[in-house]
Amino acid sequence: MTVPIDQHYISMNGHTPPEHATNGHSAPGMNQLYIGMNGHTPPEHATNGHSALEMLSVISQRVNYPKLLQLGRELLLALGEDPDREGLRDTPRRWADAWREFIEYDPGTLDTCFDSASVDQMVTISGIRVSSLCEHHLMPFTCEVAIGYIAQGKVLGLSKFARIAHKFAHRLQLQEQLGQQIADEVCRITGTENVAVVLKGEHLCMSARGIRTHGTMTSSVMHGIFRTESEARMEFLRFIGS
Ligand code: ZN
Repeated sequence: MTVPIDQHYISMNGHTPPEHATNGHSAPGMNQLYIGMNGHTPPEHATNGHSALEMLSVISQRVNYPKLLQLGRELLLALGEDPDREGLRDTPRRWADAWREFIEYDPGTLDTCFDSASVDQMVTISGIRVSSLCEHHLMPFTCEVAIGYIAQGKVLGLSKFARIAHKFAHRLQLQEQLGQQIADEVCRITGTENVAVVLKGEHLCMSARGIRTHGTMTSSVMHGIFRTESEARMEFLRFIGS
């Protein structure tokens, strides 16, 4: 495999890397995270003030920006438009910027936990709104996310739940998968298996195409006690008003 001159991709979660990451060579299991090499500092938007070491804890898939600019222009041509007409002249750049902002989103620090003397309490956080992109149609969907967990000695800072939800929303997604990834991450960081996640999503691929109807898709992931004990599950659902 050829490593790009100032980027080095290291293995994460079994995904296949985008073509630009490997210069066209296939390398299963490699993707998503890069660390600067040759003493180059990554561009400011890529680091958000993180040190190289902190960058390792931040999912940061990179886009191929020049390719996006080119594709933006080709997209306009494919739509039968004139990319050089006044209103569209800057559209490929804006389009490429939007993709970069979406994919290279940096959720910040996710895992600030506090020790807690009181355990066994159910904590729920609801009303977190995230925007994501349906991987089947590349069309946006929005989700309202509710997360519940029962702490086992460690409690997670409140804002971290929203950061976790945003982190997994900023990639090509399916709603069911998004809920699963949020639940798994909360389990991993808090060290408890008692985690519940409910997502209510509205999908543009349903309201703006196909059947062209508005509707809400609800999906849930119940781990640990939320799966095995209906009382805990019902209490969580009551808390979030479901
Ligand atoms: Zn879709």
